[in-house]
Amino acid sequence: MERLTNRAKAVERKPMTFLESLYLWNIAKGMGITLKHFFKKKATISYPEQKREFSPVFRGLHVLNRDEEGRENCTACGLCAVACPAEAITMEAAERLPGEENLYREEKYAAKYEINMLRCIFCGLCEEACPKDAIYLSETFAPANYQRQTFIYGKPDLLIPHPKEEPELYAKAAGGRVVVKTGN
Ligand code: SF4
Ligand code: SF4
Repeated sequence: MERLTNRAKAVERKPMTFLESLYLWNIAKGMGITLKHFFKKKATISYPEQKREFSPVFRGLHVLNRDEEGRENCTACGLCAVACPAEAITMEAAERLPGEENLYREEKYAAKYEINMLRCIFCGLCEEACPKDAIYLSETFAPANYQRQTFIYGKPDLLIPHPKEEPELYAKAAGGRVVVKTGN
């Protein structure tokens, strides 16, 4: 038969000896490999009890920020929505009324603010575009769910807890990333 190359070699199929047919040596070799891995450092961890440290540039769920007085930073300027390449952000602006100065830092605020986490690609451009330090990406994952509707995060899901009323929850939500704005 004509061949394209001369690399093919005929395999010699020798009959096994009695000792070889018991596979003892091969079993011992396999057990040796298992034993070796027994004493090696594990590559896996017991998630969720154990968690790996995130990279400092990890971008997780969004948080709408407040200032040190607990007032919402967002002025509903829409720059984050314009910067978002996935068109994941929608909002409705409202005018601050007299007496609401303790709630909203600016004269205009976001009465409604939504992020569709199924569209979001966690690029962080919304955070970079925001002139008011009103939004940042935290170190938290978006939890898995079977319902698509649950991935539309509204203001109650995104707004950071009040720093004076719920300081522990605020510190937990803020992590090491929150930027507290002290002026305008
Ligand atoms: S992280 Fe990127 S994709 Fe997600 S909402 Fe912000 S700008 Fe849009
Ligand atoms: S989060 Fe920032 S960029 Fe987006 S609407 Fe609010 S103030 Fe503007």
